[in-house]
Amino acid sequence: MNYTTKQLAELTHSQLIGDEHIVVKNIAFDSRNIFSVQNTAFLAINTSKNSGEKYINSAVEKGISVIISEHQLKDIPNVTWIITENSVRFLQDLAKFHLIQFHLKTIGITGSNGKTIVKEWLYQSLFDEFDTVKSPKSFNSQIGLPISLLEINQKHQLGIFEVGISKPNEMQILQEIFPPQIGILTHIGSAHSSNFENESQLIDEKISLFKDAQIIIFNGDNDLVRNKINDIYSSKKLISFGLKTSNHIFIKNDWKNKNSNLIIKYFDEEFSVPVSKRDEATLSNVLCVIAALKEFGLSNSKIIEKLNSLKSIEMRLESVNGVRNNLIINDSFNLDLDSLKIAYQFINEYNKQKKSLVLTDFVEGKNSDQLYEEVAHLTNQQNFSKIFLVGEEISKFESLFTSETYTFIDTKHLIENQQFNLIENELILLKGARKFEIEKVKSHLELQKHDTVLEVNLNAILHNINIHKSLLKPQTKMMAMVKAYSYGLGGYEIAEFLQHHHIDYLGVAYADEGVDLRKNGITTPIMVMNPEQHSYDIIIDYDLEPEIYSFRVLELFNEQLIRKGIQQKYPIHIKLETGMHRLGFKGNELDELIHKLKSTHVKVKSIFSHLSASDDPAEKAYTLDQINIFKNNSEKLISALNDEPIRHILNTSGIVHYSDYQFDMVRIGIGMVGISTNPEIKKKLQSAVRFKTVISQISEVNEGESVGYNRRFKAENATRIATIPVGYADGIPRLIGNKRGKVGIDHNTFPIVGNVCMDMMMINIGEFPAKEGEEVIIFNSNPSLEEFADYCQTIPYEVLTSISRRVKRIYIKD
Ligand SMILES: *Cc1c(COP(=O)(O)O)cnc(C)c1O
Repeated sequence: MNYTTKQLAELTHSQLIGDEHIVVKNIAFDSRNIFSVQNTAFLAINTSKNSGEKYINSAVEKGISVIISEHQLKDIPNVTWIITENSVRFLQDLAKFHLIQFHLKTIGITGSNGKTIVKEWLYQSLFDEFDTVKSPKSFNSQIGLPISLLEINQKHQLGIFEVGISKPNEMQILQEIFPPQIGILTHIGSAHSSNFENESQLIDEKISLFKDAQIIIFNGDNDLVRNKINDIYSSKKLISFGLKTSNHIFIKNDWKNKNSNLIIKYFDEEFSVPVSKRDEATLSNVLCVIAALKEFGLSNSKIIEKLNSLKSIEMRLESVNGVRNNLIINDSFNLDLDSLKIAYQFINEYNKQKKSLVLTDFVEGKNSDQLYEEVAHLTNQQNFSKIFLVGEEISKFESLFTSETYTFIDTKHLIENQQFNLIENELILLKGARKFEIEKVKSHLELQKHDTVLEVNLNAILHNINIHKSLLKPQTKMMAMVKAYSYGLGGYEIAEFLQHHHIDYLGVAYADEGVDLRKNGITTPIMVMNPEQHSYDIIIDYDLEPEIYSFRVLELFNEQLIRKGIQQKYPIHIKLETGMHRLGFKGNELDELIHKLKSTHVKVKSIFSHLSASDDPAEKAYTLDQINIFKNNSEKLISALNDEPIRHILNTSGIVHYSDYQFDMVRIGIGMVGISTNPEIKKKLQSAVRFKTVISQISEVNEGESVGYNRRFKAENATRIATIPVGYADGIPRLIGNKRGKVGIDHNTFPIVGNVCMDMMMINIGEFPAKEGEEVIIFNSNPSLEEFADYCQTIPYEVLTSISRRVKRIYIKD
């Protein structure tokens, strides 16, 4: 991108206030991720959920001098403003203009599932045939698509972009900006259909992307899709793919038999391809990619070669705790300039003061001089304390890097290097191309190396928060309950992520949980629900805000404030008893409470209560009573105090079932994890945790032989037993042994046999062709967390909080 401020304003019919000659090459949308201010404009995007205008000040503080916004803010000197009527439209108009400056071939991918994987696979297959640009991550929305299009430049010969919609009439807007020449429709599922009247409307909307396409490659397994495309687009070149044999391309042999290659039937041709993952979604994505590669004239042998080198789509950044208190961020899915930029944005979300970088050769570089110059330029803006370059190519450019830089021919030498092994207390970003096996560096640096992990998907947490937010008024605040090690998911890692996404409040159970967050750089206000007397001191030292639920606590805390000589009024939260009969002030104590509050050193930041049965429709009357008591009693307090406190009573299921009573704030907990007792909401949530391990050993057991302690399982027939390294010390209740619980392998479930041991358990896999080292799912998605909780005769809350600390938590972001 390369436009002057004057051009930008003219192209988008916006108003320019200030310098018309500034050249803009990048547009930033997130003030936290700005790391280069030269030639960068900040666009304040307004959506129904959020206003980017709140962040203009922080963008300007970082040195941005061009602001694109719907409103001009007062008192900001030396800034050139581009004032637009609609910030999203601005982006779209600009992207539309930008695209038509170039003559590249375009592929547009839409569908309910599989867009990102098909895009990535096509990119991996085509980038060394054509200079290719693609959407970063899964940027495909009204905002994401235009951002992706702005990445196009003169050298690109092919552009592969995802197009996603969530509501009717959105596709028309996107199709006008981006009318692809080749249209691809992946799988149509029911994922987004709640905003659409029915499946037919959804399909009509999606396929309208193809209005101007010459070729349409579509999943023909859905009859409605097939009929509509054949009807509406009969004059275009149509290629259907799918598992049904009525498609132009399908699999001829029995794909469930893992021992043979797939025989692909493509029109009149037949050829065999080696694909080991055999779930339906993967197979239809593979067919789709083959159909598209055929359109680019690739021979069958070339296609097989490409399929062989496709990487599983681990398009995400992993973070794990490392030795010497380092934080390891591993991003080795692919290495290109885009993903490097994204990784640099991500690491700025962490609070570690110092950071180091491991970077390998870029394997796809065509013009290496120019490429590595750009890499060095981007990298030098990051203030790495040390840089470790791995590979012969990149090492030649050592002098371009301004930090302390070391070079190595391969990762083996890096691992043995003394400087590298001395790093402590830093964030270490690992960014490498596949062939360098960066995995080895990661496992060298990792703290716990067990195969059993609890994988936490931070994006899913954000998604789930947004689903709950969509049930609330935009101005309603949200407190995230991160008590009990964030429901077992992890300590500051979750809080740090939530803080980055502007959560209003955090809630913990005990003071030391709050102290831990503060020590890790969390500055968001934190409420402590059980302020024990001995912890008042650290509560005050670490700016934590106690819940005050009785006169005793109020008086003791106030005494501590006086003893410490605190001058200003200290923030506290008043808990009202409304029917839970746990903690809180009752209605008949309010007069005395008002009297006491007026004579203490506290400021009432909020008044709240807790519902006993918000998830139980049978207790609706009781719940409404609780809400009513809360409303009256809190009003009474508020009218007597000058503090303008925030009021809150709803937990997750309260948000779902009683959103009329959201007051000023809500407190979300289990909903973040993706759990809901309401099936409609549950459908929209994503599960944010996954507990998994691998098979340690498989043994053949003969009829009559026994398994495990006390011989509790005796084989009725010869069978195969897999041992997995997870037991009751990891938080698996012993009661799910002896066939009461199941675990998953490759989408199937198998019973746990014999007694659960301390660190291991055994499962009966029979004839199933599982291998040693293969992944085993303890929960999510088969079995699901809810099913697993059923085996354990408890609720997901207890399952999660029982997983022991020795189980490594891994955090991923897409
Ligand atoms: C734990 C907790 C919540 C969150 O409950 P969920 O059911 O997990 O949403 C809300 N409020 C209070 C007081 C809590 O202790």
